Amino acid sequence: MCGIIGYVGKRSAWEMILGGLKRLEYRGYDSAGIATISDGQLLLSRRVGPIRTLEEETPDGLPGNAGIGHTRWATHGTVTEANCHPHRDSKNRVAVVHNGIVDNVEELRAELVAGGSQFRSETDTEVLAELVGQAVASGKSLPDAVVAALNRVEGTAGIVVIDQARPDRLVAARIGSPVVLGIGDGETWVASDQLALRPYTDRMVVLDDGEIAEVTAHTFKTVDLDKQAHSKRVEEILTPPDATELGDYPHYMLKEIHEQPDAVDRSMRGRLNAAMGSAHLGGLQSQGARLFDVQRVVFFGCGTSLYSAEVGAYLMSSYARVPAHAQDAAELAVQNPIVDSRTLYVAISQSGETADVLAALHEIRVKGGLVAGVTNVVGSSLARDTDFGTYVHAGPEISVCSTKAFTAQVLATELLALQFARMRDMSATDGRAWLRALEQLPEQVAFMLEQAPACRSLAQRFGGSKYTMFVGRGVNVPVAQEGALKLKEICYVPAEGMSGAAMKHGPLALIEPGLPVWALVPPDETRERMLGNLRELKARGAHISAVAIADDKEVAGLVDQVIPLPRHHPAVSPILTVIPLQLYAYYTALKLGYDIDKPRNLAKSVTVM
Ligand code: GLU
Repeated sequence: MCGIIGYVGKRSAWEMILGGLKRLEYRGYDSAGIATISDGQLLLSRRVGPIRTLEEETPDGLPGNAGIGHTRWATHGTVTEANCHPHRDSKNRVAVVHNGIVDNVEELRAELVAGGSQFRSETDTEVLAELVGQAVASGKSLPDAVVAALNRVEGTAGIVVIDQARPDRLVAARIGSPVVLGIGDGETWVASDQLALRPYTDRMVVLDDGEIAEVTAHTFKTVDLDKQAHSKRVEEILTPPDATELGDYPHYMLKEIHEQPDAVDRSMRGRLNAAMGSAHLGGLQSQGARLFDVQRVVFFGCGTSLYSAEVGAYLMSSYARVPAHAQDAAELAVQNPIVDSRTLYVAISQSGETADVLAALHEIRVKGGLVAGVTNVVGSSLARDTDFGTYVHAGPEISVCSTKAFTAQVLATELLALQFARMRDMSATDGRAWLRALEQLPEQVAFMLEQAPACRSLAQRFGGSKYTMFVGRGVNVPVAQEGALKLKEICYVPAEGMSGAAMKHGPLALIEPGLPVWALVPPDETRERMLGNLRELKARGAHISAVAIADDKEVAGLVDQVIPLPRHHPAVSPILTVIPLQLYAYYTALKLGYDIDKPRNLAKSVTVM
């Protein structure tokens, strides 16, 4: 979950690493630290709090042209300076930054303590540092020492290591957690996320799982855990310029909400076949006739991606008439899933590095299942480890709270369902109607963004409520859940999203006069039933804000406020109804004064299980 970065070259390692850490801060931000090597000495600065604190409290930086840095999301040990990375071995010779978890830490620590090692932190990472330190002290080269240490470790580790005796090199490894090398002109970087390297280089080497790289300013060499050499290709990985700059926006979340018309447009570009009234996802096409055998589709993801998976499953079964359901990837991974050759599995993850999603997809592939991937990050593990897939092209999403990735993922599932629907029963006329609805989305999403002032005043009025309910039916149940998730994530407000039908089975007991409820009431097959649910809520005094067609008088008569929807095809409503919920959460967090882009206890990509 954390961000790691390393640098070796001709410039100030401190400056390079600090810049990279700022770009990675969304990955983890409870504490940060940098180690450099200067005059054969390991130097260290670590602080609890944001990168800003580290920068302010080390005004002169650290000298040296090689170093490593880390922004932490604690898994082992509290948030203290002693637990901040980089961690050193007990002889202070090597330093390690680590993204991941050492599962057998207790056993290894006990063994090392019995052998006389002393530890200064509660982290699992320090154990790894000690193993590397001991291997180096026994005469192993740094890469061999890292291989030896990793062969003792169970768990996940994206790491970068420096040795004060070898100031000209870094050793990095990828065991379950992503690592990329950035290749410059007489300088080399290592990072957990390609975004950290964007200002410096587009030329990257993406390590595969189980690879260890030794890098100097001019060279890189890669081996596996058996010390067999691997040859790697330098790839050009481009991120759009300025995509990670905040520009005039006060927060990334607001910027990303407003980028949705463009993101949705980009996600569709080149993928609509107007003449045939169908979509064409390149990856899907590559599977040819195999797709005719698909009898069932299982979408899986975690958090927001699970909600886009649920939308996808609804669309697939309603329109393509292929039985489909969505599942929490974390549960799928541990339940020994029954995999069959007639099921298509669709893995969804914004970062493409969500550990639970990767675990589930590996389990399915080991059993011979066909897995498609939906991700936002080019070259991510999900993109590499699936049989085929689609990039959603939402552009980098920095705010921990996902917005544009959700709508872009939903759009990917729309295209998938449309293509399947056209391969089965859907007529060209019906396909064209859906396709036209997709084409109108950028404009319609922009219309929804114009409702920001109304969402803001609702947030002003209800921001401090002790509970908020979100209800929808059909394809909008997961949207209601997504709305509640936003409020929990960034406003710390207890909230639930559910089917309007589920209320009466318990949660309706929470409703008191004046409590805010958001109701999603598009003009689809669920509208009549939603009207009944609105009456039930009204009778108990809830304050209802409805997302509904502007001229739906019946809805207007039952609720306190309508956030208007443009007329649309029912299949695309989730991409429209979610926008006011995102805005409401944003303005509520603003009113409550929280750190919107970096909510407490969370981090952007959940790379631990
Ligand atoms: N397990 C390590 C720790 O708790 C690394 C956590 C991270 O990935 O930030 O320090």
